[in-house]
Amino acid sequence: MKTIGLLGGMSWESTANYYRALNQQVNAQLGGLHSAKIVLNSVDFHDIETLQHQGQWEQTAQLLAIAAQNVEKAGADCLMICTNTMHKVADQVQQAVSIPLLHIADATATALKEDGMTHVGLLGTRFTMEQDFYKGRLIEQHGIDVMVPDSTEQTVIHDVIYKELCQGVINPASRAAFIAIIEKLHRQGAEAIILGCTEIAMLVKADDTEVPLYDTTEIHAAMGVRWAI
Ligand code: GLU
Repeated sequence: MKTIGLLGGMSWESTANYYRALNQQVNAQLGGLHSAKIVLNSVDFHDIETLQHQGQWEQTAQLLAIAAQNVEKAGADCLMICTNTMHKVADQVQQAVSIPLLHIADATATALKEDGMTHVGLLGTRFTMEQDFYKGRLIEQHGIDVMVPDSTEQTVIHDVIYKELCQGVINPASRAAFIAIIEKLHRQGAEAIILGCTEIAMLVKADDTEVPLYDTTEIHAAMGVRWAI
């Protein structure tokens, strides 16, 4: 089994779920006492979040590039950035290391295509929903048609992610708001919804709606496990 390298801490709440998912999925395949081989570099999310909201993406790229080099030096065979949003700087991070970066949007697209889903809704931070680094990859490299919530709904989702989920707060009113947005996108033609932020599955579960949900934390972890075993 190869060693999976993680860039985590964005937020640590979701990195904890990556750690659990990777170990559970390795154990499901290999049984017994098998667990995942992992090297984790967990950053201080305060620094990243401040730079994100100032638009200082080059500086986030530099921070993550150094963290990625440390993961490689510690013996990782591949690299996973444990957040959808920070894939905005995935190319710069990949250039800083010689191990392959397993891209979360590619993992998600593969899972969608395996199920025949080609028209989907995307929930995530405002950066992920508005900008092209994630949506564009799904559309241009994978032929998946992506819808996003309207601007007011994007603000609700963005604020819940940073003010609640990244701080471990689970609020039933926010769950109801997310489900209403998910079902609206479904009525507008989305066959499925990408939970394109690694904290959203803490709030919304498959049982909460009949709309198919694609949890990017589980999907990305599955890509890592397939690669490692
Ligand atoms: N974990 C989140 C994501 O998947 C948001 C936190 C961040 O800004 O990295 O996008």
